[in-house]
Amino acid sequence: MATERTLSIIKPDATRRNLTGKINALFEDAGLRIVAQKRIQLSEAQAGKFYEVHKERPFYGSLVSSMTAAPVVVQVLEGEGAVLKNRDVMGATDPKKAEPHTVRAQFAESIEANSVHGSDSPENAAIEIAFFFAGTEILP
Ligand code: GDP
Repeated sequence: MATERTLSIIKPDATRRNLTGKINALFEDAGLRIVAQKRIQLSEAQAGKFYEVHKERPFYGSLVSSMTAAPVVVQVLEGEGAVLKNRDVMGATDPKKAEPHTVRAQFAESIEANSVHGSDSPENAAIEIAFFFAGTEILP
């Protein structure tokens, strides 16, 4: 499998509880390298645009509010098959359905405040990485 990059976000529920290091350790233990990382406050406009694909879903407004409630840590993770590997480390969207070893099973508060975002395909990863990072900010 080829080396890939994926976009990860440590969400407000997790930054608020000071879990960045514990979550990063799970990524690194799985063989993912954090090749870019910054702590930022999303605006409503940014969060709304980032989650635009969910605009028609009933939880869209609440999701945008939860993503702007506190800072997030946006990151680029790199590794063999990074997109799928990160999805495996994250676990299912609903923490009640997530495997025990995953970030969401261990740390998520709810299906919405589920601690992490990860790109779902290499194509979306490229779009989502460019949403937050200039190429010069990514250092393998
Ligand atoms: P992901 O790829 O596992 O993050 O899941 P999705 O792309 O389907 O959803 C994006 C985000 O929307 C999730 O990570 C949750 O924060 C939120 N979300 C998804 N489904 C629900 C839901 O049924 N209710 C609420 N309140 N939030 C949801």
